[in-house]
Amino acid sequence: MTIINVTVPFHLIKKIDDYSKIINEILKNRVSFNILKFSTTSEGINLLLDIPEEKTKQISESLMRNEIQVNKKGRVVLDKDLCIHCGACLSLCVVEALHYNEDDEIEFSEDKCIGCLICIDSCPRGAIKESK
Ligand code: SF4
Ligand code: SF4
Repeated sequence: MTIINVTVPFHLIKKIDDYSKIINEILKNRVSFNILKFSTTSEGINLLLDIPEEKTKQISESLMRNEIQVNKKGRVVLDKDLCIHCGACLSLCVVEALHYNEDDEIEFSEDKCIGCLICIDSCPRGAIKESK
């Protein structure tokens, strides 16, 4: 299985269950998949999905044909000078790449990060940034 991060842009959403466009497109491929996270971002409704690796290209292409954004995997960095250790980012990270250490300070484990970028918008201090 592989993880993809997809977004239904706000301009396509007229009612809340419009996010099911994503589900319907994936089901056309007759595969089982997991929804790891459902959230809203500044861009639209966002789903983090665990799909069969061998179907990644096919599913991504069918989503994009329906104007659903398939967000690229990225890398993030944590600016420890800006972080106030509020914990707002923690619950969004399904792989626990962001976690508290024994001193109750947030730490980022780059080796666990899958690059979904969902945490970026959650930080009120802008301490999590996409790394180019
Ligand atoms: S991008 Fe953020 S939320 Fe996604 S896996 Fe990495 S640390 Fe966790
Ligand atoms: S949301 Fe931002 S400020 Fe709060 S713990 Fe996470 S990185 Fe630090």
